[in-house]
Amino acid sequence: MNRTVQQQQLNEDLTWDIAIIGGGATGLGAAVDAASRGFKTILLEKYDFASGTSSRSTKLVHGGVRYLQQGNIKLVMEALKERGLLLQNAPHLVHNQAFLLPSYKWWETPFYGLGLKIYDWMAGKLGLGASRFLSKEETLKQAPTLNPEELRGAILYHDGQFDDARLAIDLAKTASAHGAVLLNYFPVTALLKNDGKLEGLVAVDEQTKKQYNIKARAIINATGVFSDDVMNMDDPGHESMISPSQGIHLVVDKEFLPGNAAILIPKTDDGRVLFAVPWHNKVVLGTTDTPVDHATTEPVPKEEEIEFILKHSALYLSRDPQRSDIKSMFAGLRPLVKGKTQKTAALSRDHLIITSDSGLITITGGKWTTYRKMAEDVINIAIKENSLEEKKCITGTLMISGHDQLQIDPMSVSEKDIAYCVANEMCMTVEDYLSRRTRHLLLDARSAIAAAPQVAAVMAGLLAKDSNWITHQLEAFDRIAKQHLPS
Ligand SMILES: Cc1cc2nc3c(=O)[nH]c(=O)nc-3n(C[C@H](O)[C@H](O)[C@H](O)COP(=O)(O)OP(=O)(O)OC[C@H]3O[C@@H](n4cnc5c(N)ncnc54)[C@H](O)[C@@H]3O)c2cc1C
Repeated sequence: MNRTVQQQQLNEDLTWDIAIIGGGATGLGAAVDAASRGFKTILLEKYDFASGTSSRSTKLVHGGVRYLQQGNIKLVMEALKERGLLLQNAPHLVHNQAFLLPSYKWWETPFYGLGLKIYDWMAGKLGLGASRFLSKEETLKQAPTLNPEELRGAILYHDGQFDDARLAIDLAKTASAHGAVLLNYFPVTALLKNDGKLEGLVAVDEQTKKQYNIKARAIINATGVFSDDVMNMDDPGHESMISPSQGIHLVVDKEFLPGNAAILIPKTDDGRVLFAVPWHNKVVLGTTDTPVDHATTEPVPKEEEIEFILKHSALYLSRDPQRSDIKSMFAGLRPLVKGKTQKTAALSRDHLIITSDSGLITITGGKWTTYRKMAEDVINIAIKENSLEEKKCITGTLMISGHDQLQIDPMSVSEKDIAYCVANEMCMTVEDYLSRRTRHLLLDARSAIAAAPQVAAVMAGLLAKDSNWITHQLEAFDRIAKQHLPS
């Protein structure tokens, strides 16, 4: 998947079957689905693939124990099925992760134990292993740094864990392998209409500043927390639909949670969920659920969110993580669909698909785990609403690119890997490489800042860029990287 090759396939005379706006989990999933059914598909992403929410998740492929607690059976059943399919179709990026749900009160073991037995049962033949009770001794053997005071034991259960941005890149490669054209740094700036009906879109190649009119029979808005902006291009009077909610994560050294098990605290003393998940030899602590007024491209963790995670992690870990222990932190915005209540923890995690009078199909909500089902649903709707030829969805058993290849080390700064990502993964900036082709910035921001000059120099050589480009890239990266560290 080479950007120049992708770009050369843009042809303003062509009418695409399906054009997708947005290259996060939702848009990329839709591109894989559409292209693998044989539709002429194009996807345009304003910045880099997965540069929005889709690279900033908790990295769980899960049914959502929490949603079970809320009684959302349909959502959990669907997500558990998708969890199983993703593990089969992307075994290089998703693995079975053991979780401990520790109990400190007498009622927690039977209460959560029963819930998790139901969770096992709901997963059916796609289950990842039966949950079981652990004694206090067994619990501490699996998680020696868990606070032992008043600990009664734990329930061990299984969910999936993955690398979100890598999956996004591999989905893009899968779509491309099936004939889709995908372009990053290619914002959609307007929609084209004829007689009140959509017939295309206007997009700009940020590399050349050239503007394109792209015609398509179906147009899908998959812009996550920015869905309202694209809906405004279609209908300036449209009522806002998205209520963004920020979630942050802190990344600390593995010594805070040695061993392989992750920890789930289903209800902190102020009623929130807390995860501590091993990830690429570090530990991710999170998350929060903070309503925000406006969506921004680079959301920054708020002081009170950092404090919340540090304080509550300290209650459950024998060594209290301090600010100075934070290797990196990252914030993402959930594209929650507005409900009657403004409390974001209660808004729908389910996905929603709406078609406007002009034919714009907007898909939003959902979660990474269910991206495949969301894609299947939205392409079915695109077929129906635009009289496209009926073709069956094949993604249930479609292997995702990269499953038969060696994986790039998540902290790599090797020339070979940089060259590979530039030539084959549309890696255009220093941040693309350090944040999403590898995960260096999310795992250790200081180390990523130190590595940036070397990455910039290698990329400049590969992309035939001058020293101004290097200076500009390093300044831009520095600005973003600093937001990954507490002040
Ligand atoms: C804190 C947090 C933790 C989460 N953890 C999990 C988890 O563990 N497991 C799980 O399953 N789910 C999780 N989720 C949910 C999951 O990450 C999201 O549901 C998913 O990433 C949303 O993907 P998306 O494609 O809809 O949005 P995005 O990833 O935001 O993608 C939208 C894209 O549209 C692009 N765009 C915007 N405007 C334009 C335009 N005009 N032209 C072209 N492109 C445009 C943006 O640049 C962006 O890349 C989490 C979410 C958050 C916030």
